[in-house]
Amino acid sequence: MNAVVDATGSFASAQWPNRFQSLGPAFFTPLPPQGMPDPHWVAWSPECARLLGLPAERPGDADTLAALSGNTLATGMNPLASVYSGHQFGVWAGQLGDGRALWLGEMATPAGPMELQLKGAGLTPYSRMGDGRAVLRSSIREFLCSEAMAGLGVPTTRALCITGSRLPVRREEVETAAVVTRVAPSFIRFGHFEHFAHTAEDPAALQQLADFTIDTLYPACREAAQPVVALLEAVTERTASLMADWQAVGFCHGVMNTDNMSILGLTIDYGPFGFLDAFDPGHICNHSDHQGRYAYARQPHVAFWNLHALAQGLMPLIGDSDAALGALERYKTAFPDALMARMRAKLGLATRQEGDHQLVEGLLERMAADRTDYTIAFRRLAGFGTTAGADNAAIRDLFIDREAFDAWATRYRGRLAEEGSDDTERALRMNRANPKYVLRNHLAEVAIRDARQGNFSEVERLCQILARPYDEQPEWSAYADFPPAWANQIEVSCSS
Ligand code: AMP
Ligand code: MG
Repeated sequence: MNAVVDATGSFASAQWPNRFQSLGPAFFTPLPPQGMPDPHWVAWSPECARLLGLPAERPGDADTLAALSGNTLATGMNPLASVYSGHQFGVWAGQLGDGRALWLGEMATPAGPMELQLKGAGLTPYSRMGDGRAVLRSSIREFLCSEAMAGLGVPTTRALCITGSRLPVRREEVETAAVVTRVAPSFIRFGHFEHFAHTAEDPAALQQLADFTIDTLYPACREAAQPVVALLEAVTERTASLMADWQAVGFCHGVMNTDNMSILGLTIDYGPFGFLDAFDPGHICNHSDHQGRYAYARQPHVAFWNLHALAQGLMPLIGDSDAALGALERYKTAFPDALMARMRAKLGLATRQEGDHQLVEGLLERMAADRTDYTIAFRRLAGFGTTAGADNAAIRDLFIDREAFDAWATRYRGRLAEEGSDDTERALRMNRANPKYVLRNHLAEVAIRDARQGNFSEVERLCQILARPYDEQPEWSAYADFPPAWANQIEVSCSS
């Protein structure tokens, strides 16, 4: 294979196929990024760099720093902001679009073509009331969580780096600007389809978008009798699988509007997200979500609702509503099957047996009743011993109602015995399904506090630890501890 970037890690010799751009002007507005004064590096992800075929080391040249701060363009980049619409909090919001994300171009990489976006690179025609900027705080959260999700094995957009500047940005208080370089095979959202179905003047544009999506992202659907129905079904399956991933790792997105739903089933647009600490199915991570529309336990239902909105957007192409509903119907089996597979792995069950669902529910009920820490409980469950003498104190002590836990443990022990489970082998398997390290809010908060003082070492350390969340990494065990009392006070809400 030809080298796609030169050895210095600059973008000087990258190739830019720019397929999205070939869609034409109905889909975007070409415009240059707005740079930041005296940019500096904040963070660089070695894992994302490797994915792109770039050196793992942060580049030392000023050109790359300038390009990834929006100050200059590398040859081949064709910046543009795309237009989309969407449903926000269940209500049709009309036209939205890349208000602060700028598509730099599509880069040829060893992992295939990857789109690069700068988030926070200034005003676009879709900025509405916003300033086109992102602050350091939210950029660090997006960067870390993108890379943490990738480490967990959850489909996600990636983050290559953050650059920062002293440029003031007004939020509740004055903060400073930063730019995240995001990476994904595609940033097409459900809302792109909704846009062309509901608001566009050109009916051919919707067909063009569907054809583009099928040909570049879902080529297998082209073989189907009804390619657009096949596309809807494929997106339904990926979304179902993503929801199972989120629920299993205890991830709450916080703003599951249809404009924040990826057509590839990637986690996208990290804002007021959170990982569960104490287990509460009704947990609401977004401080401005007063109704709890996007509460943890509701996420799978919301995704299904969003898929209906996508189907509505595709209806002009599908025509037959039964065919569309038939494609959506896949969700009703794909999601529970995927979730059950994840939960079996979390419990270390190697076989499928009747009653597994109740066994899982039984544990979750105990955890909800006692507000047991979600990540710690599952990680400790790996050490569950089935021998007569095992007191299983590490997991048992997490529960307030020990007798109720013991009753569940008896069922669990019986179930494990039925499949001849070996404690040591099972523990190894469970540790690959139950992360030790997740990006709890308080961990991000400490990194942000230091970064505001100009110390970025905590961002780098977290990025490194969270890239291998299933490994013991005993030297970093403090990062796997219970959250401190002050973690309860952290409030995160929409766009910052
Ligand atoms: P979000 O809730 O972050 O997904 O954003 C919803 C919409 O608002 C998208 O169209 C964003 O591009 C836009 N938006 C959010 N924050 C800003 C900002 N600071 N400046 C311009 N547009 C923004
Ligand atoms: Mg968004």
